[in-house]
Amino acid sequence: MAVERTLSIIKPDAVAKNVIGKIISRFEDNGLRIAAARMKLLSQKEAEGFYAVHRERPFFNDLVKFMISGPVMIMVLEGENAISQNRNLMGATDPKKADKGTIRADFAESIDANAVHGSDGPDTAATEIAYFFPALDVYTR
Ligand code: ATP
Ligand code: MG
Repeated sequence: MAVERTLSIIKPDAVAKNVIGKIISRFEDNGLRIAAARMKLLSQKEAEGFYAVHRERPFFNDLVKFMISGPVMIMVLEGENAISQNRNLMGATDPKKADKGTIRADFAESIDANAVHGSDGPDTAATEIAYFFPALDVYTR
């Protein structure tokens, strides 16, 4: 198994619900460490840049509007197979289809407001981490 890093965002809906700590506990209880963290109200440009791969999709404008509707908690998670481990803990994009006990099943309302983001592969993880954190601000333990 390989130690990996992945980008996690606790989205505005979950921050507004006051469940940052509960979500972080899921990560820590499952072998992931927080290597960097920052709370931030994204600008429209920052959100558009982050989700640029989706810019042609019909839901892009709503997605950006949602992501800037309140502050988000942006984190680098580190651990064995962190990328797939985080995706497993998150559950399916649509909370109605997410497995029981996953973060989205337990904390999300809809496919638009779905509590968390997680990088979907090694390349996107590297790009997304660098988008928000200078290498010097990511702490391996
Ligand atoms: P994220 O990238 O936020 O971790 P994901 O990887 O599970 O989510 P993506 O396909 O990358 O899903 O979509 C990015 C986001 O766009 C989703 O989290 C969701 O909020 C929104 N989205 C995706 N598909 C749809 C859809 N069919 N209708 C509305 N919103 C959608
Ligand atoms: Mg995605």
